[in-house]
Amino acid sequence: MMQSKTVVDLYPKIEILLNEPLSKYTHTLTGGPADILAFPKSIKECQEMLDYANEQSLPVTVVGNASNLIVKDGGIRGLTMILTKMNRISSHDNEVVADAGAALIDVTKAAQAHSLTHLEFAAGIPGSVGGAVFMNAGAYGGEIANVVSGAEVLTPDNHIIHLNHQELDFGYRHCSVQENHQIVISATFSLEVGIADKIQKRMDHLNALRASKQPLELPSCGSVFKRPTGYFAGKLIHDAGLQGFQIGGAQVSMKHAGFIVNVDGATATDYLNVIAHVQKTVYDKFGVHLETEVRIIGEDPKSN
Ligand SMILES: Cc1cc2nc3c(=O)[nH]c(=O)nc-3n(C[C@H](O)[C@H](O)[C@H](O)COP(=O)(O)OP(=O)(O)OC[C@H]3O[C@@H](n4cnc5c(N)ncnc54)[C@H](O)[C@@H]3O)c2cc1C
Repeated sequence: MMQSKTVVDLYPKIEILLNEPLSKYTHTLTGGPADILAFPKSIKECQEMLDYANEQSLPVTVVGNASNLIVKDGGIRGLTMILTKMNRISSHDNEVVADAGAALIDVTKAAQAHSLTHLEFAAGIPGSVGGAVFMNAGAYGGEIANVVSGAEVLTPDNHIIHLNHQELDFGYRHCSVQENHQIVISATFSLEVGIADKIQKRMDHLNALRASKQPLELPSCGSVFKRPTGYFAGKLIHDAGLQGFQIGGAQVSMKHAGFIVNVDGATATDYLNVIAHVQKTVYDKFGVHLETEVRIIGEDPKSN
């Protein structure tokens, strides 16, 4: 009879931590433990972990830079993979190809170094390539959909397939990998030749703008809510008088009403309570439902 692998067989070849607090990795510095947390360094290791999870019927969660995540305080069951150790970036002609775990900011630097333009909008987005494709991240009039021509993904049954731009089906903070439960393993950015100095100046300008408007000095998960049609989430929250509203250590930012910052040892539950209060107040005052942009995953903590 074939012996099934255990997580111990895969370690130490693949870095694996058990019962590891995800608050060490999330940008909000909140979140409960992952039962099994793996850091694959290659597609092969990613596939080995996925095989293991499928064999054991474990749920699988993929995390990039954890900059758009709230992990509930009860943590995540099954296998969680953080892909930031899969981070190669290469460039040929007018294309940059990057592994899913590469920092999007590093991809913008690589594009600039090769005098490739159109990725400047992403210079300050603190996500990974995989998370940026998954979310169709965007800023300052640009979005991933405009620059990514295709991606390699792992299907839930562990096959590598290529998705072209059309198959990625990008929309506002949407991409088809969301409903198909695929794992992005790399993406191709198709850019145009520009002038390196001009590209750098645009990136510097946008980063200065970002620093002047966003509370980058405090932990957060970026804009918490999607832009409701016809409105701006930040303006509704500001007009509802919610800036400074705080539960536990989570506070609606005084600098940017669309951000919730961790000012004093917040828990994920504090974040979720502030989100619920903001949604209710804005709905009661203006009749607008604020849908979360930030992805909320994991389990509620067990009550004592
Ligand atoms: C200070 C700050 C500023 C920000 N500014 C912006 C901004 O201007 N524009 C913007 O769009 N966003 C912004 N964000 C949010 C965030 O950086 C982006 O959404 C980013 O694309 C998320 O990438 P990530 O790797 O951190 O994803 P994570 O937070 O790790 O994950 C987000 C979602 O993507 C999934 N995911 C991650 N990697 C993969 C993968 N390889 N395959 C499949 N699914 C995957 C996760 O399961 C999760 O559901 C900001 C965040 C912060 C903290």
